[in-house]
Parts: sequence; structure tokens; C-alpha cells
Amino acid sequence: MDYAQTVLDLVGNTPLVRLNSVTEGIRATVLAKVEYLNPGGSSKDRIATRIIDDAEAKGLLGPGGTIVEPTSGNTGIGLALVAQQRGYRCIFVLPDKVGEDKRNVLTAYGAEIVVCPTSVAPSSPDSYYSVSDRLVREIPGAFKPDQYSNPNGPLSHYETTAPEIWRDTDGTVTHFVAGVGTGGTISGVGRFLKERNPAIRIIGADPEGSVYSGGTGRPYLVEGVGEDFWPAAYDPGVVDEIIASSDQESFDMTRRLAREEGLLVGGSSGLAVSAGLKAARALGPDDVMVILLPDGGRGYLGKVFNDHWMRSYGFLPPEEGRTVADVIG
Ligand code: PMP
Repeated sequence: MDYAQTVLDLVGNTPLVRLNSVTEGIRATVLAKVEYLNPGGSSKDRIATRIIDDAEAKGLLGPGGTIVEPTSGNTGIGLALVAQQRGYRCIFVLPDKVGEDKRNVLTAYGAEIVVCPTSVAPSSPDSYYSVSDRLVREIPGAFKPDQYSNPNGPLSHYETTAPEIWRDTDGTVTHFVAGVGTGGTISGVGRFLKERNPAIRIIGADPEGSVYSGGTGRPYLVEGVGEDFWPAAYDPGVVDEIIASSDQESFDMTRRLAREEGLLVGGSSGLAVSAGLKAARALGPDDVMVILLPDGGRGYLGKVFNDHWMRSYGFLPPEEGRTVADVIG
């Protein structure tokens, strides 16, 4: 019989699939690493497992303990999954701008949520930063993972994501591309691959306007990537190049990945592929580029996959009425 002991044993070992359509005109082999096939639906399952393992080993988290983190996204889902399986209480502190669907995913896994007003300064006692700090201080046995500074984030990618890429490409990978949020993915994978072969190029994909590509953190709509500060989890020493893509380029590519490659992924995956392909155009037939796709598209059906939403930001041209004759031809 072949089965996993618990759902946590299903984290990692995600497959590589070749991109065949969006790569038209490119001679290199371009492979996508499909992280939405993790049980919680994103690459963040890897960091959640590693962060909790380490906290247990160091005695920072023990029986009856509580995990408290200000997050609404994929890291929350990963932590909720691990907390549930290990018997911890899990509390996420969210700003009130976080939509109902995202809240419901967290509570579906058994996590508790505390909602704070978005419209207050970070220093206010009601801000979600202050509230999460207070909960950690006041709940006995509470532990705050802090994904932006916890070294186990990059380490999880060094120990799992990167060896999988090296193994599955038989060591032939020549380029690795990932979007940069906390920087954990690119730093951990980059360090491992450079240790194996220093010639491998490590390319960060960044939304236009974020600090990694020289901006100030100007608002952009792609979620999960780009920052307005430099997190400790990011190691600029292993990154050879940062390539920026606009929201328009990222969302167009996200929609093409669903329609042409059958990969229903989030906007940061479109960003990574858009930026990666800019570099891939210059490559030859012996090059092997791996692009990491961090999460799936179901969490974004009301945004990038919704024509009205896309039009409201000018990412699609205004609607033109279609007649029966248009459809039948
Ligand atoms: N894409 C999405 C959807 C994410 O949630 C994240 C994590 N913030 C990233 C990309 C970037 O990964 P990292 O934090 O490892 O840089």
C-alpha cells in the first residue's frame, strides 16, 4: 500500500511541467514548478512546516501552545494546516480589508481570526501589528513565526524546493526564476543551486515599483510579491538579476497560463513567467529555465479572472456588445 501518514507528508515534491505555448519562439526548455499542488495550495506549506518544526525543537512552542501571526494569505493556510495536525491553537490577526473568502479559508481549517481596522497607523494599539504583538505577550505559550525574518523560511526552500529542482532536472538547470515577496524562496533555492553550480543564474521577478527593482513600494495589484522594505529573509547575494514586469504584463500572462497551459495560477505566477520569458528570449536550446509558480488561481477568481475587475483597472479594453451573428459567425 502506498499512502501518506498525514497530510503534512504531502508537502513538497511538486512536479515540473514544460511550458509549451506561452514560450513560442523561445529555444530554451522552460519548466514550471507547480506549487499549488501542495496540500494547502501554495509554496508556503513548506515554510510553515519548517518554522513549526524549528520552534518545537527550540522549545518555543510546546503542548497547549498557540501560534499567532499577522497574515491573511498563503502563509496563514500553511500554518493553520500544521497547527491543526500538531494540536496547536492558531490565531491570525487580519486587517479588515481582507475579503470574506480569505477569512473563511482560515476558519475552515480551524484557525481563529481577529480583525483589526485598516484605517489606523501601524503604531496605534488597534493596528494589526500592535494587536498581534499584544496577543503574543498576553497568551501563555504563544509563538509568532514572523515569516519576514524567520531564517527557517529560506531554509525550507534550501532543504526541499531546491534539491527537488536539482534532482528533477538531473542537474541540468541553468536558470531559476521566482517572484520575490519575503525573499525566502529565491534566497533558499538560489543558495542551494549556486553551491551545486555557481554558473546557474538566479533571477528575481518583481512588480514594477517595488524596492527589489529600484522602486519605493508604489502600489501595484499583483499579490504576494514586491515590498516597500528589505526583509531579513531576502539574501541579495545569491540573486544575479531582478527583472520587473507591470501588472498588465503579469495579469495577461496569468490568464494565458490558464487558457493555454491549463495552469490556473495566481498573479504572482504570471509575474514570474512574464519576467522569466524576457530573459529566456536570449537563451539557446541547451538552457533549462525553471520558473516557480507559488499558488493557484482559485483565490483570485474575482480579480485577474474576472473581466469586469480587469476592465475597471484598464487591463482589458472596454466591453463591446456581441451579437448572435458574432458568435455564429
Ligand atoms: N507569490 C505568492 C502568492 C506569495 O504568497 C508569496 C509569499 N509572500 C510569494 C509569491 C513570494 O515568495 P517569497 O515570500 O518566498 O519571496
